[in-house]
Amino acid sequence: MMQHAYHVLNTVFGYDEFRAPQDQVIEAVLKGQDVFVLMPTGGGKSLCYQIPSLVRPGVGIVISPLIALMQDQVSALTQAGVRAACMNSSMSSEHNYQVEQQALRGELDMIYIAPERLTLQRTIDWLSRCQLALFAIDEAHCVSQWGHDFRSDYLQLSLLQHTFPSVPRIALTATADAKTRQEIIERLGLDKGPVFVSGFDRPNIQYRITQKNNPKQQLLNLLKTEHWGHAGVVYCLSRKKVEATAAWLSEQGVNALPYHAGLDKGVRHQNQHKFLHEDGIVMVATVAFGMGIDKPDVRFVAHLDLPKSIEGYYQETGRAGRDGEPATAWMAYGLEDVIKLKQMMAGSTANEQFKRIEQQKLNGMLGLAELTGCRRQMLMGYFGDELAQPCGNCDNCLTPVETWDGTDAARKALSCVYRTEQRFGVGHLISVLRGKVTDKVKQFNHQKVSTFGIGEDIHDAQWRSVFRQLVALGYLNVNYDYGQLYLSDTSRAILRGEKSLLLRVDTKQVKNSASGSKNSKAHNIADEDLELWDALRAKRKQLATDQGIPPFMIFHDATLLEILTTKPNSLDLFSSIGGVGQKKLDKYAEEFMAVLQTFHS
Ligand code: ADP
Ligand code: ZN
Repeated sequence: MMQHAYHVLNTVFGYDEFRAPQDQVIEAVLKGQDVFVLMPTGGGKSLCYQIPSLVRPGVGIVISPLIALMQDQVSALTQAGVRAACMNSSMSSEHNYQVEQQALRGELDMIYIAPERLTLQRTIDWLSRCQLALFAIDEAHCVSQWGHDFRSDYLQLSLLQHTFPSVPRIALTATADAKTRQEIIERLGLDKGPVFVSGFDRPNIQYRITQKNNPKQQLLNLLKTEHWGHAGVVYCLSRKKVEATAAWLSEQGVNALPYHAGLDKGVRHQNQHKFLHEDGIVMVATVAFGMGIDKPDVRFVAHLDLPKSIEGYYQETGRAGRDGEPATAWMAYGLEDVIKLKQMMAGSTANEQFKRIEQQKLNGMLGLAELTGCRRQMLMGYFGDELAQPCGNCDNCLTPVETWDGTDAARKALSCVYRTEQRFGVGHLISVLRGKVTDKVKQFNHQKVSTFGIGEDIHDAQWRSVFRQLVALGYLNVNYDYGQLYLSDTSRAILRGEKSLLLRVDTKQVKNSASGSKNSKAHNIADEDLELWDALRAKRKQLATDQGIPPFMIFHDATLLEILTTKPNSLDLFSSIGGVGQKKLDKYAEEFMAVLQTFHS
């Protein structure tokens, strides 16, 4: 049976090898075991149920909450020659009836179905008359009331183990924590089968967090030097900022679209559709954009505002590079972000326990932002997955952070907060430290306090950096009303000289790892190949448009890249490229080889 699985891997999906632990998962399902699979986004969960659906007799039933994406999944499978269909409330009853009949006749390999439809008595009766290969429960964390995507329809999926005890069940998720995992296993009755948990690292994502000075310009710079023409997501905190940023980027020649919950549903849908179906769209969005964005070739995720937790940051950045190709997670952050978020939390009306948890989560995120060591090591550690060595693929590994002894400066800053009665924001505090006689200084007679002018030797920007780090590290608290700073329990140790403090030196611009040519950076395409690369992309785009599907369903970037570098001139050579199965070979090889021909001189 495993031989059959390898055959399907090669001829249908066009891949040479399984990625661990795909082979073990598939072997278990083929044996009829129930399995639980926890793999990071982009790890390759789909093949774990798609291949057994093709190898085992009968049809594989895939339960997924993401109705909007079902048709895309079906289209992608159809491209590979798999007989797939989907059933959900957005389809006509005529369509759904046809699917039922086809399945009864044994004419389908896989059916994607929404949970609320699966649990109808009518569906159960129909399924009882079909030959079933397996049940795959995708996004299985939706069964957990502890997690954040709980769906009551998922609870009823426990009927599967009672009604269809002989059909293997495979539950899959990318959601990490142990409590959710246990809940899935219990509710879906998976306790007798094997559990597969892969590491959480996403080595192809480069993590970078830089200090804000002119964020929009910094972002544009990133696009121009590394991600021109690439698909990406830019996250902002507010709807207003989403719209302003999208408009500004468009003026700068970027193909940018806005997405937030306040937009008309039709517009939202249209923009999401464009993002999925067209090449190189930059989606500027609030966190409302994301759940189930199943686009493999997102080359960068940029944050113009600080996420509220490491979980959020990891989930959002995780939408980059699902295809395993190099991708960038970039964030610009500054003093205002820290103040704003701390202020928001201080003013929250939630109960004390909830507030405390939120505060802790934000502190974790700030710790990541101010970190001087390897970002990936901290991220992995946060999720309980130790990374022995620094990663070599984050900003701090690529350009080690310099530090300076900020003890004295911190003491001056804290004592200035104290001397001015803990009633002022950063701007005024810096004026006092630097001895500036502003109107406000005169109004409060602050030229008389003992800290007036004691920090003249440090320029404004550096003071802001000191204050940012003091707030981020918890040595200063932020008042809800006007963002006034006040001392915390931990500030005393510094004031009394019992504790010293190393601060990071802010670099204006985090250097790029290498200066590559515009457009191609994430893929490391040689300059002389750029034109051919564009021609191959244009061909892919044309084939996709003709069929009304996204370009990545023709070939993923990784496949296109291999075509570019190996330049196959025979069907045989073409078929050995990753991601080229028999169906796609028949359908597209000639067309792409013709493009290669025109560049051959
Ligand atoms: P997940 O659902 O876990 O996020 P997917 O199933 O969408 O991940 O797979 C992520 C990417 O990896 C896809 O582009 C897929 O084609 C590719 N992939 C999966 N398995 C393999 C494999 N064995 N060899 C090469 N590429 C693979
Ligand atoms: Zn690192």
